[in-house]
Amino acid sequence: MRTFDIPEFYRSPVIGKVKAIRKTADPRKRDLQPSLLDFGSVRLILPRHFGFCFGVENAIEIAYKAVSENEGKRLWLLSQMIHNPEVNADLESQGIGFLMDTEGRVLTPLDALKPEDVVIVPAFGTTLEIEAKLEAIGVDIQRYNTTCPFVEKVWKRAAQLGEKDYTVVIHGKPSHEETRATFSHSSAHARSMVIRDMAEAEVLAAFVRGERDWRDFEEVFPGRTSPGFEVPQDLQRFGVVNQTTMLASDTQAIADHLKAALMLRDGGSDERFANTRDTLCYATLDNQTATAAALDLARDSADFAVVVGGYNSSNTSHLVELCEEVVPTWFIRGADEFGADGHLGHFDMKSGTHCKTEDWWPSVLRGEVPTVLLTSGASCPDSAVDRVLQQILERCGGGRAVDDVLRLFAKEQATLGA
Ligand code: SF4
Repeated sequence: MRTFDIPEFYRSPVIGKVKAIRKTADPRKRDLQPSLLDFGSVRLILPRHFGFCFGVENAIEIAYKAVSENEGKRLWLLSQMIHNPEVNADLESQGIGFLMDTEGRVLTPLDALKPEDVVIVPAFGTTLEIEAKLEAIGVDIQRYNTTCPFVEKVWKRAAQLGEKDYTVVIHGKPSHEETRATFSHSSAHARSMVIRDMAEAEVLAAFVRGERDWRDFEEVFPGRTSPGFEVPQDLQRFGVVNQTTMLASDTQAIADHLKAALMLRDGGSDERFANTRDTLCYATLDNQTATAAALDLARDSADFAVVVGGYNSSNTSHLVELCEEVVPTWFIRGADEFGADGHLGHFDMKSGTHCKTEDWWPSVLRGEVPTVLLTSGASCPDSAVDRVLQQILERCGGGRAVDDVLRLFAKEQATLGA
């Protein structure tokens, strides 16, 4: 796997070391069991995979290269580079402006751009409409295009489905940059529609099975279909692709549900449903599978979980959902959420609000020392997780020195890998 040149301050002395030790002991990533660090005063469970994925490191490398190669020029990001406040704030401090916010609202009109301006396309990619506007201005959009190859793979697959006369159903958040980009690219080659979740898949399945009146379709799915989309004929044959950070298990469940609806309607023939399993992002799958393995351990031993990541990060919110099913979970953007007075600032996904909780640390522990599952989203630097880890260690006090714990951990892993 390629390694990327990303600024040193995103790397970390503790989490980075744990990952390096695991990589050395198990280079083929066969062992998905979590890492267990015992500090004496607290035990930490770290999933085998978490943090920056291939696409994010690739995007960060290209963005900082754009900064260093274009002194004196105006630099723009189409929208947030990735959904992490720390990364975006640092890029802004380097003089990069944002053209749009995450919902696609204009911050700086494209008309204000000049051909010599440098525009960075984020890891999510962008729509064909925006690409065309930038090209009309004369901006080179390929030089610093950080669109993740795994997102492009989804676009290619959508085009192949279109060639075979399949409609593309995209499982994603309709307003998310990546879903808007995928919808745009897919619509250029195939009839396409977006569904948000299983609840919407169930409604779509009811149409497909003939249980709902097609005349209601437009009202139920307004603005979710490509131009000229017609029902029922455009839902005779289809395949499902996803916004790459959705829960892979959710996408699979949605695909299975829609396939079952088609088969019921067509009397058992499944040739109208295209198999698209191979478009699921490997990094998202690895992170979600590793989180599940860590939760197996946490189920019987952890007092709570801490998930670090941007509050608008799709993949981080899915990790929070997975953790919440098993242990009390705090979703925090970073170490700045630990208040000096002992409160914890965190994001409550149910209400969509930022909260402060005073009594967040459990009063009764499951074991002799606290056990915490610590993880982060694919857009979160390891250095941010390190700072959270330090806060937890300070809170617990005493215990073994970090270097001693890492030395012991390396020894254990070497024995396992031998
Ligand atoms: S989560 Fe997957 S598709 Fe998204 S940026 Fe990372 S590697 Fe690329």
